[in-house]
Amino acid sequence: MTPGTTPRVRAGLADAPTQVDVLVVGLGATGAGVALDAAARGLRVLVVDAHDLAHGTSRWSSKLVHGGLRYLAHGQVGVARESAIERGLLMSRTAPHLTHPLPMLVPLTEATGHREAAVVRTGLAAGDLLRHAAGTGAGELPRSRRVGAAEALALAPALRPTGLRGGLLGWDGRLEDDARLVVTLARTAAQHGAHVRTRVRVVATRPGGADLLDARTGEQREVHARLVVNASGVWAGDLDPSLRLTPSRGTHLVVRTAALGGLSTALSVPVPGERARFVLLLPQPDGTTYVGLTDEPAPGPVPDVPEPTPGEVAFLVDVLGGVLAHPPGPADLLGAFAGLRPLLAGAGGSGTADLSRRHAVRVRGAGSRAGAGAVVTVVGGKLTTYRRMAQDALDAGLEATGLAAGACRTRDLPLAGAAPRPVLAALDAPPRLVRRFGTDASLVLATARSVTGLDDVTLLAPASPTAPVTLAELVFGVTHEGAAEVEDLLDRRTRVGLVPTDTDQVRPLAERALALAGAAPV
Ligand SMILES: Cc1cc2nc3c(=O)[nH]c(=O)nc-3n(C[C@H](O)[C@H](O)[C@H](O)COP(=O)(O)OP(=O)(O)OC[C@H]3O[C@@H](n4cnc5c(N)ncnc54)[C@H](O)[C@@H]3O)c2cc1C
Repeated sequence: MTPGTTPRVRAGLADAPTQVDVLVVGLGATGAGVALDAAARGLRVLVVDAHDLAHGTSRWSSKLVHGGLRYLAHGQVGVARESAIERGLLMSRTAPHLTHPLPMLVPLTEATGHREAAVVRTGLAAGDLLRHAAGTGAGELPRSRRVGAAEALALAPALRPTGLRGGLLGWDGRLEDDARLVVTLARTAAQHGAHVRTRVRVVATRPGGADLLDARTGEQREVHARLVVNASGVWAGDLDPSLRLTPSRGTHLVVRTAALGGLSTALSVPVPGERARFVLLLPQPDGTTYVGLTDEPAPGPVPDVPEPTPGEVAFLVDVLGGVLAHPPGPADLLGAFAGLRPLLAGAGGSGTADLSRRHAVRVRGAGSRAGAGAVVTVVGGKLTTYRRMAQDALDAGLEATGLAAGACRTRDLPLAGAAPRPVLAALDAPPRLVRRFGTDASLVLATARSVTGLDDVTLLAPASPTAPVTLAELVFGVTHEGAAEVEDLLDRRTRVGLVPTDTDQVRPLAERALALAGAAPV
């Protein structure tokens, strides 16, 4: 962005267009992905979120780029294949900077039966085949293998050595940060011409347009759009009464990795007494480990921010107690977070379908009249498959409306800051900024220098020993990523908000960034 230009990712409706080709509701991974796809096809796009970028489920995930193994376990080969293909695209082409290979160990203990171990081994071998079939090389994600007890302990010193027989080591993908994927998608969409607005709620949709409400000013406005795409996640039923979604809650704990005794691999721990159910321990780049996942019905109104229950926390702590040498005590639990996966009530009310496996696309309106509009709802799926979901939703919408547009380009469209791994490794920039912004690390620093006039030592100093966030990235969050409030910086441009004690320490720096950048002419 050059000084004097208006940022395209920002809060509110001021100067937003009232006539576009495509209006997208929701700025999670799906909506941001739809906005990017549509803008890259040459369409005029406005995308809005009632709150902020990545305010919904997209920031509460396990941050995995799934290869689809768990879908194979349910016999859903097509879904697994789609997931493996999308994982490969993200890791090798569109977002190498935001994705990393993740080793994952299934510990084999005295309690693991031979049949159980054989099932895991078969699953990992099938995953290897899937990876190969999807075109992802063993250089990107190595083949799975059996490891002995000594190697298992070297990879995961946190494991209890007594009774450990070894482990099965597989590889999958992980995201640097799920919210960062969304923020990067939104910024890339803006670079391709999309208008990206937060704090704008869509109160009603219809074929041909929607009614919008600016949450900050109270202004209401009608926007005309041939195609409206409802990508509002578990809230999609609020805008499409024909959809009946019943969410189910997935909870993670946040613990300090060092308190567990160290982990250089993720762990996939079989839940005692249950078939094909695992609790994952996922070490993060910031020295924390996420422990999840639960699956609990969450009936009733869908909250803006779901809360874990004491029962879910106790269940996860219990599973850890079975495998770790030093299970975390109450003082080691830094925080917990929960996200909602959508379940779609079946036609005629018979049972539910778990949309976290495959996404659904529904079209309302248009069809016969030239120039008529349509509303397309896209719901379910996963972060890993956001690109494919966006493509399917737009293809359906373009067919329904007859809107002329180019072909989908996103398979080969790098997200902002993307570059091949060797290029990223050779960049002369602070490693934390490279991990979160790729080749844009230098833009982040240059922007912060020019906006604040501060030196690099100040701009790059870690906010605290446990929260290595820098002033440079917080300033960039305001100037280029639409952060309008302190919580945007703490909870979604960075993930400090996952650990309440870190949040208190970083808050003053976030306030300083807003003060420095909010008033600057960018
Ligand atoms: C616990 C859990 C763990 C998961 N882990 C993984 C994982 O490791 N890997 C993976 O690939 N997938 C994972 N998933 C799935 C993945 O997180 C979701 O499929 C994905 O984030 C959904 O994105 P979305 O954009 O469709 O919805 P959301 O991220 O919820 O976005 C919807 C947005 O719409 C906005 N909105 C709602 N109503 C309105 C309105 N009226 N007007 C304007 N805006 C509105 C909301 O504020 C929100 O920001 C997980 C899911 C859960 C629940």
